[in-house]
Amino acid sequence: MAGGQWGVVPAPPTIVHLDADAFFVSCELARRPELRGRACAVGGRERGIIASASYEARAAGVYTPMPTARALRVCPGLVLIPPTPGLYGEVSARMFDLCGELTPWVERSSIDEGYLDLRGNGLANEAAVAAEVRRLQERLWSELGLPVSFGVAANKLVAQVASKLRKPRGFVVVPPGDEAGFLAPLPVGRLPGIGPKTEARLAERHGLRRIGELQALPEGSLEAAFGAGWQEVRAAAHGRDDRPVVTEPGDARSYSQQETFAADVRDRDQLVRVLKGMVDELLPKVRRDGKRARTLTVRVRFPDFSEGMRSRTLPEAADLEAPFYPLLEPLLAAAGAGTRPVRLVGVRISGVEAGGGQLELFRGDEARRRRLARVRDELNAARGAGALRHGHQLANPADDA
Ligand SMILES: [Mg+2]
Repeated sequence: MAGGQWGVVPAPPTIVHLDADAFFVSCELARRPELRGRACAVGGRERGIIASASYEARAAGVYTPMPTARALRVCPGLVLIPPTPGLYGEVSARMFDLCGELTPWVERSSIDEGYLDLRGNGLANEAAVAAEVRRLQERLWSELGLPVSFGVAANKLVAQVASKLRKPRGFVVVPPGDEAGFLAPLPVGRLPGIGPKTEARLAERHGLRRIGELQALPEGSLEAAFGAGWQEVRAAAHGRDDRPVVTEPGDARSYSQQETFAADVRDRDQLVRVLKGMVDELLPKVRRDGKRARTLTVRVRFPDFSEGMRSRTLPEAADLEAPFYPLLEPLLAAAGAGTRPVRLVGVRISGVEAGGGQLELFRGDEARRRRLARVRDELNAARGAGALRHGHQLANPADDA
């Protein structure tokens, strides 16, 4: 039938693995772009080791961890950069902050690697998912000067293999259902958990070099090669993995929420009310985590999938709703809402820092506001979220018109 099979919409891949390329070196090069293209490494000079090497340095035989003295011998032109205290953690936080603008489901697995779950993001198909992730990759490069490789797949295992396949600045999408076919031609060492020693043993003793050969192996032979863990190896070889993306609630770097409307919304007042409701849901979480935050980002998506996004930062970090309310309308306007219909709105509260207020430190009105917020949080926790609502959350009958 011409035009393909209508009625069958394949599910888009929603799990993303990101892995910054030569992370420590890249953080340094972002501050010193004149060094780009040269063989560079971050490492200690005196009896030090190389912690991170640029791809140019790797091509010259420098790897990590390698004693600095040896690295300078194999690559005499090597630009050795001493580690900058604090820099890498800061760049990492900014990297994951930008990820948090795409989805609240961000799992940091190391300083420069993590997973995102885009489920519930309203992205209809593979092309839309790929476009969003590409946009994030571009932002990381243009705003932070950070080269990051991405893998997009149906699960964590395949996304991770995909992200490491075409570094640097790789971008590999594996359509759901293609997991086994994608993995088959790759060397067995590409599977997480199969290190160089196991890879060499598999080749020598069992003649196994490609993941496809593992897939085709009968159970008995798999057990002979891998022992007790053979079933996990078989699942991995076929690209099966059901581990969820896990965010640590107490360790949030940002708080965000978004909503896709059933029908596009043009009325800015209505959008402001929806955003206020989101602020009301997010700030109790900020307080519960004992944090305060200073930056509010409003994001809108239009029916053609173009987007507007604007941020404002408060002069002082806050853990109450009120300071954020007045920012909503101007940010919505700046993001382009009100001039054309909006399909999705979202808010994100970032610039998170430690130290929610101890009640005892506040006096007068401020103490009263805080007591009220605390009582409201406790009541809502006891009765189920949203039991005690702010005035603007009460439905306006005109909204239904
Ligand atoms: Mg990396």
